[in-house]
Amino acid sequence: MLEILYRIVQKVNAARDLDQALKIIVDRVAAATASDVCSVYLVAEDHANLMLMATRGLNPEAVGRVRLRLDEGLVGLVAEREEPINLGDPERHPRFRYVPETGEERFHAFLGVPVIHYRQLLGVLVVQRHEHRRFDDDEVAFMVTMAAQLAGVIAHAQAVGSIDALHSGRRAGRNQRLAGVPGATGVAIGIGRVIYAPADFAAVPDRAPENVEIEEETFLGAVRSVRAELAKLSQRLSGSVPDNEHMLFEVYIHILDGNTLVEETLRRIRAGQWAVGAVRDTIAEQVRLFDEMEDSYLRERASDIREIGRRLLMRLSAANEDTRNIPEKTILVGHEINATQLVEIPRDKLAGMVAATGSVNSHVAILARALGIPAVMGVADLDAAQLEGCELIVDGYAGRVYAQPARAVRREYRRMMREDAQISDRLKEFQSLPAETLDGVSIRLYVNTGLISDVSSSLEIGCDGVGLHRTEFPFMIRDHFPGEEEQVRLYREVLEAYAPRSVTLRTLDIGGDKMLAYFPIDDEDPLLGWRGIRVTLDHPEIFLTQLRAMLRADIGLGNLQIMFPMISRLEEAEEAVRLVQRARKQLHEDGLEVNDPKLGAMIEVPAAVYQASSLARRLDFLSIGSNDLAQYLLAVDRNNPRVAALYDELHPAVLRAVSSVADSGGRAKVPVYVCGEMAANPAIALLLLAMRVNGLSMSSVNLLRVKWVIRSFSFREARELLEQAVSMEYAEEVHTLVRNALESKDLGRLMRPVK
Ligand code: PEP
Ligand code: MG
Repeated sequence: MLEILYRIVQKVNAARDLDQALKIIVDRVAAATASDVCSVYLVAEDHANLMLMATRGLNPEAVGRVRLRLDEGLVGLVAEREEPINLGDPERHPRFRYVPETGEERFHAFLGVPVIHYRQLLGVLVVQRHEHRRFDDDEVAFMVTMAAQLAGVIAHAQAVGSIDALHSGRRAGRNQRLAGVPGATGVAIGIGRVIYAPADFAAVPDRAPENVEIEEETFLGAVRSVRAELAKLSQRLSGSVPDNEHMLFEVYIHILDGNTLVEETLRRIRAGQWAVGAVRDTIAEQVRLFDEMEDSYLRERASDIREIGRRLLMRLSAANEDTRNIPEKTILVGHEINATQLVEIPRDKLAGMVAATGSVNSHVAILARALGIPAVMGVADLDAAQLEGCELIVDGYAGRVYAQPARAVRREYRRMMREDAQISDRLKEFQSLPAETLDGVSIRLYVNTGLISDVSSSLEIGCDGVGLHRTEFPFMIRDHFPGEEEQVRLYREVLEAYAPRSVTLRTLDIGGDKMLAYFPIDDEDPLLGWRGIRVTLDHPEIFLTQLRAMLRADIGLGNLQIMFPMISRLEEAEEAVRLVQRARKQLHEDGLEVNDPKLGAMIEVPAAVYQASSLARRLDFLSIGSNDLAQYLLAVDRNNPRVAALYDELHPAVLRAVSSVADSGGRAKVPVYVCGEMAANPAIALLLLAMRVNGLSMSSVNLLRVKWVIRSFSFREARELLEQAVSMEYAEEVHTLVRNALESKDLGRLMRPVK
């Protein structure tokens, strides 16, 4: 059964559009279950009816015509109950309803299963038989599994199908809405520009060539270099690998030398497609032809064609990288976008970002926030390629994207953008004012840096220094570890810029969603694996180089603080402290007079919450990394959009954990800071202030909002809010509490950024 299921899903996945996908479903499922009828009903746009969308066995004319109310007939009953209904004599059931348009005969067995995607009913999959025999348990299990698998495919095909419609004429006003999760707040209106992984065919967008001749030459150049590469490989392998393997390269070369691939691609380029898109289409066509062959040897050739295509695509992508001309108001769209790709687009041309993967606290989303670029992440049904050149609205507040928006929608978002601009103007008033409450209690506000270095604007807004400098970025954009001298230069730049204000440099925090191409970490579960301090303690040579560079950069300044990420055991903190002392000693022996910086541990693992007092006794400060802390406390992957709704910094457990760390620090008289995104949320900042946290560190774009809120409340009011918040059992209650508090001071507009 599993094999059949797999084959069906594979076929459906390869379908051109929703219609074809449904047709494959009904044909294959009918055959697999030996049923006389298989039909798919989908919930209509009005959410009140089910529409027959495909059938095998009923009158084909009924497709698109038969509509059943959700409370009508047996199909409606499946929808209503959201569970399978398996009947021997369906006609005797009180909910049975005969639908003449379907040409339905007398069937004596009925099995309907709901198709549900993320709690949402998409439709009903039905099989029927003449035979007087109920479907057996295995068949029901097969149908349920089938429906669960197909739900994702149908949801995707529906989304893509409607986007496809956008391209028939590319007119504005079609207003396709895509749902994701907020990545960075704000609204952007611009033009979609697709980026894709060099080997990802499905993500290649259509694009018109700027110059057909150049495009042809680029393609032919790619063919030549792939051919040369293959010939070299073939030569190198001859004699050292079995003939069969070796022959493979000859086969590849043969395919490249054949006329079809080159001629077909050139034809497509001349017809108005850029080289990359033309290769994509030629390869897809060839693969389809081979895939459909009965002979298994010939079917295998499809994978050779794919491999050739992949190689060509890599070449062409490399050739296109520099020449791409980036339009104004670019909205970067991609299946997966990483931090490096985001910063490659000139800031003045980058308006927004949309990604199919990632979630609110993925590092690329944090970077977008630091850049002030509205972003929507985790758009599960995103078919990135289709959005190339489309007008897009990115609503980073609600986590929505509109393609080819209707005029009214655009007008509304323009109004929102004007309102945001007014808020930004108003925020300037707070630049030179201290972050203190109406009754004079102050809190330090720091900026998070490292992802971008925009020193002047951070200083202008009146920050107290840097609470978190993420050092990994320079490691990520290079193809080797940066050396000690280079690191000294990088750290000196930040320390000098903010001196005499303190600058907290965090030691290298790789692993999780921050990987180095040149230092692969192959963990099955990277978030629970080799991350942060675990990596650097295992590689003292890397760690000591970094520590020495930090200490050297601080010579003559004295504003350096160092903190260690991902501490989950006291021994790690102790070992890290010992290594700092070792680095100091080494430098001292080299005749350098280095300072004795304050050292801190990040509290971002639940274990560290429970040992915060012990850590506080061994270190000079604690800094709560709420992004990871919430992730590990709630067991919600911060990068996984599927569980984004469960990631909640106002979850009572998160609030209690943070509050308990603040207490531990207070008792030990060791300062406690919060440097995760929680600190950047104006409403939560108020609660953190009430917890007596000593400082908040955030991306500079949020700092003035936070200051505004702090200056609008008294400490007493903040305490009262906190007391209520910690007594609440549901996150939603806390959300309402803080929302109402801000609205009571007419600061509701600042709340848009909150969940
Ligand atoms: C955190 O986890 O809250 C944090 C500040 O570190 P990062 O987001 O870089 O993991
Ligand atoms: Mg972290």
